[in-house]
Amino acid sequence: MMMSEFRRIGGELHCEGTPLETLARRFGTPLYVYSESSIRKNFKRFDKSFEGSDHLICFAVKANSNRAVLRSLGDLGAGADVVSGGEIYRASLAGIDPVRMVYSGVGKSIAEMEQAVEAKILMFNIESFSELKVLDEVAGRAGKRARISLRINPDVDPRTHPYVATGLKNSKFGIRIESVLEGYERARGLKNIDVVGVDCHIGSQLSSIDPFVEAVTRVKEVASTLRDRGFDIRYLDLGGGLGITYDRESPPPIEEFGSAMRAVLKGERAKIIVEPGRSIVGNAGVLLTRVLYTKKAEGKRFAIADAGMNDLMRPSIYGSFHAIEQVVEKGREPEMTDVVGPVCESGDFLAKDREMPALRAGDLIAVMSAGAYGFSMASTYNSRPLAAEVMVKGDRHALVRQRGSYEDLVRGERDPEFS
Ligand SMILES: *Cc1c(COP(=O)(O)O)cnc(C)c1O
Repeated sequence: MMMSEFRRIGGELHCEGTPLETLARRFGTPLYVYSESSIRKNFKRFDKSFEGSDHLICFAVKANSNRAVLRSLGDLGAGADVVSGGEIYRASLAGIDPVRMVYSGVGKSIAEMEQAVEAKILMFNIESFSELKVLDEVAGRAGKRARISLRINPDVDPRTHPYVATGLKNSKFGIRIESVLEGYERARGLKNIDVVGVDCHIGSQLSSIDPFVEAVTRVKEVASTLRDRGFDIRYLDLGGGLGITYDRESPPPIEEFGSAMRAVLKGERAKIIVEPGRSIVGNAGVLLTRVLYTKKAEGKRFAIADAGMNDLMRPSIYGSFHAIEQVVEKGREPEMTDVVGPVCESGDFLAKDREMPALRAGDLIAVMSAGAYGFSMASTYNSRPLAAEVMVKGDRHALVRQRGSYEDLVRGERDPEFS
C-alpha cells in the first residue's frame, strides 16, 4: 500500500495507530477519516522544498475545507488559496490570517470582493478585465487599495483530465497570454488597485513536471517584462495541481516539484506562492463505507455500499479511480465487482469492474485517497445527510464534523405564505 499512514496491523487496516473498524463502529458509516500526521507531513515537505526562498504555501481550501484540517495547516504557517467568501470565512475561523490568503476564481461577486477587501487579504488573483474594474470600484468605495495579480493563461497542456485542465487557450480560466500586458497596463491605470504579482494555475492531478516548468517559465517571463515596464512585481503565484497516486500514476514527489520550480526561478527575488490542495490531503484521507447488500448480474457482483455519489462524487463526475480495501482481510477469492451506492442514478458508483476479494453484506471497506475533493464536494442529493468526519492523530481521534441530521436537511426551508 502506498500510503504509509494507512496500513495493516495484524491484517486490519489502521489510520496511524487507530483501527478503522473501531471508528466505523463508534461513528457509523459513511465516515471520512483523516490522518493528521500525514497532512502535516505533506505540508512540511512543501514548506521545506522552498526553504531558502521567500515563500508562502497557500493550501487550496476547496480540496478539503474541514475546519480541523485548516487549523492543523494554519498552525504550521500555511496560508490559504480561497475561491469564495465562504472559504474566507472558514479559513479565518480556523485561525488563518487573511494576510496569508490569496483569492482565485472567475466569478467573485461584489459582496465577496467587499468581504475580502475588508479582511485585507494578501492578493486577488484576477481572471478578467471586467472583474478588475469591479474590484477597483469596490476597493474605492471601501476607501482601500486592493493588491492584485493577473492570472495568466499560459496555454500549457497539463495532460490531465479535461475537466481539471485550466490553462489551455480555450479555458474559462485566466487571461490569454496575448492580452496580459494590456491587462497589466489597464490595472496600473486604476486608482484603487496595486499590482503586486503574476499568477497562474494550469490544472489539477498533474503527473509530470514539464507542464509546470513551461507555465512557470512563462510566469517568470511575464514578470520580467513587467519589471522592465516599471511594475513592482513582488509575488509569483505558481498555483497548485501536483498529482497524487490513486492507482498507478507516478507523479513527481513534492521535493522534485519544489526543486524544479526553484531551478526555473533561480535568482528571482519575488516571494513564491504555491497553492497545493490534493497533494497535501488526497492520500491523507479515506472514506469508510459498509456493504449493505450484494447481488449478481452478468458475470459480476454488485456490492451496494452505504456511501454513494453524494458522499464521494469523483468516480461519477470524472470517472476517477479510487482503490478499495477491505478493512479486515477475509482471505476471500477475487471476484469481478462493481461497488455502487444507494443513490438513484446509474452513475452512482465508487468502483467499476474491479477484480477484488469478494465482498459480503456487512463488510467494512475503505475507499482510499479520498482526502481531497471528497467531503468538500459532497451533497445531500436523495436527502442523504452529510457524512461525518474524523481526524486521527496516533492512537487518538476526534470527531471533527458530526453526521448531518434530518433537521439539517430542511434547515432554512419554509412553507410559502400563500399555501
Ligand atoms: C483547485 C485549485 C488549486 C488546487 O489544485 P490541486 O490540484 O488540488 O493542488 C490551486 N489553485 C487554484 C486557483 C485552484 O483553482
